Amino acid sequence: MSPDPSRDPTVAEERPTFVTHLECSMTGRAYEADQVHGLSEAGKPLLVRYDLEALAKAVNKAALAERPGGFWRFREFLPVRKAENVVSLGEVTTPIVRLPRLEAANGGGGALFVKDEGRLPTGSFKARGLALAVAMARELGLEHLAMPTAGNAGAAMAAYAKRAGLRSTIFCPDDAPAVAVSEMAVQGAAVYQVNGLINDCGKLVGEGKAATGWFDLSTLKEPYRIEGKKTMGLELAEQFGWELPDVIFYPTGGGTGLIGMWKAFAELEAIGWIGSKRPRMVAVQSTGCAPIVKAFEEGEEHAPLWPDAHTIAAGIRVPIAVGDFLILRAVRESGGFAIAVTDEAILAGVDEVAKTEGLLLCPEGAATYAAYKQALAAGRVGPQDRCVLYNCATGLKYPLPEVTSRLDRHKPIDYAAL
Ligand SMILES: *Cc1c(COP(=O)(O)O)cnc(C)c1O
Repeated sequence: MSPDPSRDPTVAEERPTFVTHLECSMTGRAYEADQVHGLSEAGKPLLVRYDLEALAKAVNKAALAERPGGFWRFREFLPVRKAENVVSLGEVTTPIVRLPRLEAANGGGGALFVKDEGRLPTGSFKARGLALAVAMARELGLEHLAMPTAGNAGAAMAAYAKRAGLRSTIFCPDDAPAVAVSEMAVQGAAVYQVNGLINDCGKLVGEGKAATGWFDLSTLKEPYRIEGKKTMGLELAEQFGWELPDVIFYPTGGGTGLIGMWKAFAELEAIGWIGSKRPRMVAVQSTGCAPIVKAFEEGEEHAPLWPDAHTIAAGIRVPIAVGDFLILRAVRESGGFAIAVTDEAILAGVDEVAKTEGLLLCPEGAATYAAYKQALAAGRVGPQDRCVLYNCATGLKYPLPEVTSRLDRHKPIDYAAL
């Protein structure tokens, strides 16, 4: 079979982009596009702004429907100006898997879906953000990238940076999932395990900048990972026939995905592709690290550092988030809420979904299922609601229970007892 060049998003073609400027998410101050930017002067994330009127004239739903799958199909909504800077590892549109048995087990009526992001390159939705961040790094002439990671972001950065010919240096907590740590190293990154949490690793990236000249690709500390994660919202809207579901359960660490989806919905409404109806956004955290939940419940705009953060769900073990106010804003504007689940409920969730539906979730994905059950029991979501759970990574990257049944093939086997 010969490869289909139309499937290759790096192939040059007419490729207009519509970025007008960047904007401080706190003060609204404008920043020039096509320059290297980190945080704004106020120390807050920068958001990419587009000429949405021109964008709406350049693409329509029908044209989009003709394109191959994967997040690069949304190119008009993305900041990369030159096709040669696009980095691709064969992205796919991630499937939405319905869970009919669990719908019935939980009372029926509504509909329960998993958006399975584990099918992306490097096995997690971090591929979306990092593909965009790396492509923009290449476009802006950066050569050396660095980041702190709980595992999946580093794996995605290592892969896409290698693909783009850029150097990467990564710091992770020494108890980060072993598969992801090895994955980073084998994909050519310099990886260091640090005796601390992700925010401690982040400090090293900041401190090392002057001596190394590396660029900090930390969550929300550069403007483009949000744009990549935004494609989750675009993709979801398209898959649901431009009629968004009622509730989205999102495992929230740094919150890039939640903020990105919220931005996607606003842009889609501005160009008239969807109406004003929004899903209720639910930020899911672990009871061992729930800064956003605490701030939500206390009516605060910011979430201070959560002390002694611990949870088996490494991706949501983020004790402090620079985009805290953006997460809280999106959750509140949507009429959603923030909710914490225990590690026991997370493990039970992995087990229940795998044993009932044959779908293996990662712990963070299972946290959304545990939160769904908890919210349903408490009447925070209704039995008629159409709910989407985000399974952010493949369950195969995490430690799984040991199998202890053994057979000796040299002895008689009692097949009827198997
Ligand atoms: C990064 C990550 C998260 C958190 O995503 P954010 O968008 O940064 O909040 C959740 N789960 C997994 C598996 C992750 O890798």
